[in-house]
Amino acid sequence: MPSADRLVILDRDGVINQDSDSYVKSLDEFLPYPQAIDAIVRLTKAGWTVTIATNQSGIARDYYDKATLAEMHDELARLVRNAGGEIAHIAVCPHGPDDRCACRKPLPGLLEEIRDALGLEELAGSWMVGDSLRDLEAGAAMGCHNVLVRTGKGTRTLTKHPELAADASATYIFDDLVAFVDWLLRP
Ligand SMILES: [Mg+2]
Ligand SMILES: [Zn+2]
Repeated sequence: MPSADRLVILDRDGVINQDSDSYVKSLDEFLPYPQAIDAIVRLTKAGWTVTIATNQSGIARDYYDKATLAEMHDELARLVRNAGGEIAHIAVCPHGPDDRCACRKPLPGLLEEIRDALGLEELAGSWMVGDSLRDLEAGAAMGCHNVLVRTGKGTRTLTKHPELAADASATYIFDDLVAFVDWLLRP
């Protein structure tokens, strides 16, 4: 059974795969970082539940459609499964910034979806991993431990918000997903 203190929620772009300022619009542009799949698999094998919460406003902007997004996520799930891991749930916000939805991070709607999909009472004590401030804001709203990785927009986020680095108890900072997983699974 999933439990919040054994749950990791990953942002997608810039955490699992290379981000692009012109959006990740096709399966060809979906490029997982080296060892990122392996890191997810290691979490699963160590008894952690792995989920994804991803803003995909490129759908609202008509840069790609839901079928193309499903191709990317099928491929991701396949890569993880073939290596012996599992992604328990992928929560997607397909809306744009002006759609007034309840799911686009920094709002916590995607995390609420994950909580409900896993049958959890709350997400307090779980781990939210992102490369943007909005990921951390969504995580904080749900009582998650917050992790910022330097990949993707992470370095930019730290430059814009140096206060994040000043309070190590509020935000854990790692070079990438692999370094976070190494730390989380440390003996
Ligand atoms: Mg991101
Ligand atoms: Zn939304």
